[in-house]
Amino acid sequence: MITVEIRDKHVFLTKTVIDLFCRFQQIEQREKERGGIVLGQISEKEHRILVCRASVPGGQDRNKRRYFHRDRKKAQQIIEYEFYNSGGKNTYLGEWHTHPANRAIPSPQDIHMITEQLATNEMKVEFILLFVVAQEELFVGLYDGQTMSFATVKDFRDYLT
Ligand SMILES: [Zn+2]
Repeated sequence: MITVEIRDKHVFLTKTVIDLFCRFQQIEQREKERGGIVLGQISEKEHRILVCRASVPGGQDRNKRRYFHRDRKKAQQIIEYEFYNSGGKNTYLGEWHTHPANRAIPSPQDIHMITEQLATNEMKVEFILLFVVAQEELFVGLYDGQTMSFATVKDFRDYLT
């Protein structure tokens, strides 16, 4: 489990999610960016966020070595499936994708994408998470419609052992 503190919130990442991020890391230079959505639970006071599910990249995603755009339809199916199978506990929390770099820094396009996601989200969430999975670190961003607050986790692969 990885725990990150962002402002007044604690974000918990389960081993399942870390494992999935590591599985799709862009280590070889020719590999393309990959990603998906993250799901989980928010505690009543919204100070604790459990990220316990992440979707695997799909064949309908559009991606290049430095570009990722996920398939919208498939994500919606995953959201509905997870909601149903968790008895209404797991909901959409945000987005994840890889970067072919050591450091995890969101691009201006990433910021634009997350802004759009929050603005157009049907579930009227108050914030959205952005994970950028780089080669040596993990960016965990929390966007509330005004500010992107974040934490960076170094050597996140170590949490698997
Ligand atoms: Zn990116």
